Amino acid sequence: MRKPIVAGNWKMHGTLESARSLAAEVAAAAGSTTGVEVVVIPPFVHLHAVRNALGESAVQLGAQDVSPREEGAHTGEVSTRMLRDIGCRYVLCGHSERRQYQAESNELVAQKFMAARRAGLLPVLCVGESFEERERGETEQVLRAQLDPVLRLGGPATFEKALLAYEPRWAIGTGKTASPEQAQDVHRFLRSEVAAFSATIADLLPVLYGGSVKAANAAELFSQPDVDGGLIGGASLIATEFMGIVAAAA
Ligand code: PGA
Repeated sequence: MRKPIVAGNWKMHGTLESARSLAAEVAAAAGSTTGVEVVVIPPFVHLHAVRNALGESAVQLGAQDVSPREEGAHTGEVSTRMLRDIGCRYVLCGHSERRQYQAESNELVAQKFMAARRAGLLPVLCVGESFEERERGETEQVLRAQLDPVLRLGGPATFEKALLAYEPRWAIGTGKTASPEQAQDVHRFLRSEVAAFSATIADLLPVLYGGSVKAANAAELFSQPDVDGGLIGGASLIATEFMGIVAAAA
């Protein structure tokens, strides 16, 4: 009953021209895929060109980050309204690279998430543990600490119009994918944390998996009952590979 979603996070890759042509290729190929929500998430400066290249296709647009503030003197920030204006439907909040390299705290991520919700964007809350945390048996504790500030700020309805992405840090860009069982265990845990607030919302909540997903391993991951699609990094930069992942979700 949950529609699968496959989102390509282009990170800080490409040029204006390569972004345009990748978007056009995805749009053309996605025309024949029904039943999967396909999303591309280019860098801010390529959003406008990508939106134009997507044209009337069903492929949706997302942003990689957003300011928690509405507007004003915040040099370098991009607001939720700007993202709406330019045609974004989704926005990533708390991708592990931002938590790690931009020192984004769980609290700041929660504020961004709430700003996105207030603006009518669909925030994708990214959560995940490091290899050491998993080894120490702290995975659930770490994920709970990432979820809790969002649940606290937003209350029971927080995840009504939102998504979760489980991205184990040890699997991002490393070629090491979580096994389908490892992913399923964590996805089930995340859904149960939300179900403690509302079973109905938890049932409808898309929980995406991210971390070295490729066309070759996607079908197995997506076949797990609580895995509702993927957040794809490296493999989303090659249209044929990305569309192979989309096909695996259909
Ligand atoms: P990857 O990245 O697919 O390159 O591992 C996933 C992500 O960071 O969203």
